[in-house]
Amino acid sequence: MAAILIESALSLPERITSVSRRPASLGQVPPGAISLAMGEPDGDTSAPVVEAAVRSLRAGRTHYAPLTGSNELREALARWVTSTSGRPTTVAEIVPTHGAAAGLASIMLGLVGPGDRVIVPEPTYSLYADHLAMAGAERIWVPNRADGCLDLDRIESLAPEARMVVLCNPSNPTGGVLSTAELTRLADIVERNPQLLLIADEAYGDIVYDGVAFESALALERIREQTVVVGTFSKSFAMTGWRLGYIVAVPELAGKISLVHRTINGSLNTFVQDAAIEALKTPPSYFEAMRERYQRRRDLVVAALDDIDRVSVKRPAGAFYAFPRVDSDLSSAELVDAFARGGVLVRAGSEFGPSGEGYVRISFATDEQSLAEGLRRFGDVVEKL
Ligand code: PLP
Repeated sequence: MAAILIESALSLPERITSVSRRPASLGQVPPGAISLAMGEPDGDTSAPVVEAAVRSLRAGRTHYAPLTGSNELREALARWVTSTSGRPTTVAEIVPTHGAAAGLASIMLGLVGPGDRVIVPEPTYSLYADHLAMAGAERIWVPNRADGCLDLDRIESLAPEARMVVLCNPSNPTGGVLSTAELTRLADIVERNPQLLLIADEAYGDIVYDGVAFESALALERIREQTVVVGTFSKSFAMTGWRLGYIVAVPELAGKISLVHRTINGSLNTFVQDAAIEALKTPPSYFEAMRERYQRRRDLVVAALDDIDRVSVKRPAGAFYAFPRVDSDLSSAELVDAFARGGVLVRAGSEFGPSGEGYVRISFATDEQSLAEGLRRFGDVVEKL
């Protein structure tokens, strides 16, 4: 009882700090160091999107937008989601958000509360745990199996007592992509537990390799009422700094998420939403070129890591991360320090959940030359460990 009282007396910052695995800041890249740490595309936003924002600003589109998002953007997103996922999607199911980050926060704050149990397969994107702490929900880590697949037996056993399961697919940090079999069994579990919501963060849904078509949770029609999908312009369109994401959910859930989102954020930037409509006109060839570019880098990373003794890595099937295990006595955080001293910046695997200990995350959203040099340094450091 005393413990509960003390816990509830924690302020929100204290609650977040007590669970957070995220670095306080990504810090500066010291002169001469190569950063393989950042989760953002190295290229700039495409010229037509930038021009659309400039046109919008010049046209005086500098006033408040509707609190639920611009109608034109929501219509464009509903068409985009319908055509890319095959799921007929209405405007009432679209919530534009201040990046996926604010979308995720609004989901957690809007759909779970104190005492609700939330299943989080890990290693996974570190922000979910912080949002769940804000909401006061109970986060239950479920480590992935040794083969990288979801531990669906464990998820199934926890499901009857849980309110939500949060997936990152494709995965940051592992680059894993869920198989049809995993998605189907997950849908079975969700369908059998009507109180359970499935949150699918598909920030990297456009970045899947080897010619494989990405399977979105939006295709799981039989659990439509229980599914919330998170998207973002950040990765697909190299628009991290514009801060624009979106959520797709049935109107009842979308309404709750939108209410929380607008209560915190107010409306989104008007000219950013105008530019996003232009981004949604991007031809398929752009995405094909993007995937080819990242896939070349993925191959380079896997080949380089495979050549280093005491390092093992699963071939990423999507996103722009590799998650190698480094066989040493050092913790992930100590490994990160050792790599930084060797001139290459990576992220600690433990940031992404308890089972990330012993791993580091390498981002290959970096030009090939820097990537090759960064990997050479990485190998040198491991050799001297
Ligand atoms: N979801 C995942 C899996 C991410 O990796 C990131 C950013 O790194 C986000 C969400 C947040 O994206 P946004 O820039 O849209 O807030």
